[in-house]
Amino acid sequence: MTSNPTAPTELVDDARNPSSAAERRPTPGIEEFCAAAADLLGPGSVIRDAAAREKASCDWAHMSPILSAKLPAGHAEVVLRPTSHEQLPGIMALAHRHRIPLTPRGKGTGNYGQAIPLYDGAVLDLTGCGRVLDAGDGWIRAEAGAKMSDLEAHARTLGQELWMFPSTFGTTVGGFLSGGSGGTGSLVHRTNGDGFVRELTVVPCTADAEPFTVRDTDALPYIHAYGTTGITATATVRLQRARTWTGLFAAFDDWASATTALSALVRLEPAPRLVSLDEADLVRVYQVDPALDPTALNVRAIVEDDAVDAARAIVRAHGGRVLEVRPAPDGPALISSLSFNHPTYHLMKAEDGWFHLEIGGDVLLGNRDGDGDGDIAEIRKVFPGTLLHLEGMRSGTVGMLMARYEDEQTVHEGIAALEALGVGVHSPHNWYVDRRLDLVREAARTADPLGLLNPGKIPGKAGKVPDTGPTQETP
Ligand SMILES: Cc1cc2nc3c(=O)[nH]c(=O)nc-3n(C[C@H](O)[C@H](O)[C@H](O)COP(=O)(O)OP(=O)(O)OC[C@H]3O[C@@H](n4cnc5c(N)ncnc54)[C@H](O)[C@@H]3O)c2cc1C
Repeated sequence: MTSNPTAPTELVDDARNPSSAAERRPTPGIEEFCAAAADLLGPGSVIRDAAAREKASCDWAHMSPILSAKLPAGHAEVVLRPTSHEQLPGIMALAHRHRIPLTPRGKGTGNYGQAIPLYDGAVLDLTGCGRVLDAGDGWIRAEAGAKMSDLEAHARTLGQELWMFPSTFGTTVGGFLSGGSGGTGSLVHRTNGDGFVRELTVVPCTADAEPFTVRDTDALPYIHAYGTTGITATATVRLQRARTWTGLFAAFDDWASATTALSALVRLEPAPRLVSLDEADLVRVYQVDPALDPTALNVRAIVEDDAVDAARAIVRAHGGRVLEVRPAPDGPALISSLSFNHPTYHLMKAEDGWFHLEIGGDVLLGNRDGDGDGDIAEIRKVFPGTLLHLEGMRSGTVGMLMARYEDEQTVHEGIAALEALGVGVHSPHNWYVDRRLDLVREAARTADPLGLLNPGKIPGKAGKVPDTGPTQETP
């Protein structure tokens, strides 16, 4: 068995503070709420100092120039740090009794503003609820604040591994399920709403705040719902038999060869854990590494040890060069740390002036008309300076498009143009819940009748949160 991939954790303690929040009226009842919360949790878990409140008021929404222009968009009046999931019902009943808006938070790395408390009130920091509770054949159960990296490490001691984890490997399981989507492992297992969750214990924001349990597809209204349908107290997610993973790094000279190899690697058996592709101009902003070629298209794959020869053969057959085969933990960890939104992060860290879109569709492979470039040339023309990062999935290609930012209107026009070319686009410039909205609305009606949970995130939902003026403006 290989050891665990190490975490791309650099984001986790790097939340940037927004500029100071404008003068606001305190939420009515906040003082009484804080006093009662201190009785419940102990005074050390009810934090009111300005720096902690600033930090808890922002997430990685600043990756969007459109959202950045709307920040700060809400401000925590208090940060609550429970230390066990058993404390959550008491907090929820208190929030309900005092009518205090309450926004749950893991590590705060969501990049759509999901964790920003748009209506002020309390931020419920769940990182203190971080215990791995139990595990068995094919499953692991943990408190919501447990790190995905801890779940993977624990699973590995049992000869198992997670179905999936995000490129922000050190983030919380509650945050990943409530705000994230997929990651390493999604090549086979798709998103976190496609069977990864076996069971959730959810605490509603009601008078008695009685926790309830949902299983399998009944958990869907609580996945990627930004905490609007209840606070996840514990999560049981799926494991598979641990594999011995290796990182394979390759370089190609043209898009058609690189994307054909990408597709072939995705279909390799046994299935890889991740296959991705970067353009040279993205690789240039990464830390220099012999496994990365900043002059070429780079294709990387996390493959099982005994599939390495077959993967090498695919690279060679499509005219590529294998740069390196690097075993676990370093090879797979490096590939995971350059996946999904991490290429955007590295680009933005290196240079100002970029924005990004989440894209999908096999049209991105650009081979349809067989001329070697195909539709990709048209796709590149939509935004100036377009750079592409692709992730190969058995269910189809997804990725990130990064381009030079002009203004919000140009982004919206460009999205329409991409869609007209057959590219699926998910905009990260919007902090509304935008998946399974009907299910979410229905679940929120009973789990949060007063609209106190992460208010402002369900479009068109009328809650009873106080009117705090500018924070009501959502994009
Ligand atoms: C550079 C970069 C790369 C990323 N890569 C990926 C990736 O590969 N895959 C991916 O899916 N995402 C990715 N993300 C987004 C994000 O990092 C992940 O989704 C992460 O797992 C979120 O976890 P967190 O602990 O930071 O949650 P937070 O950001 O704190 O919370 C996310 C959402 O969940 C809610 N929430 C948190 N805990 C709970 C709870 N216990 N109950 C109910 N609601 C809760 C919050 O209110 C918020 O709405 C990336 C982000 C960045 C900036």
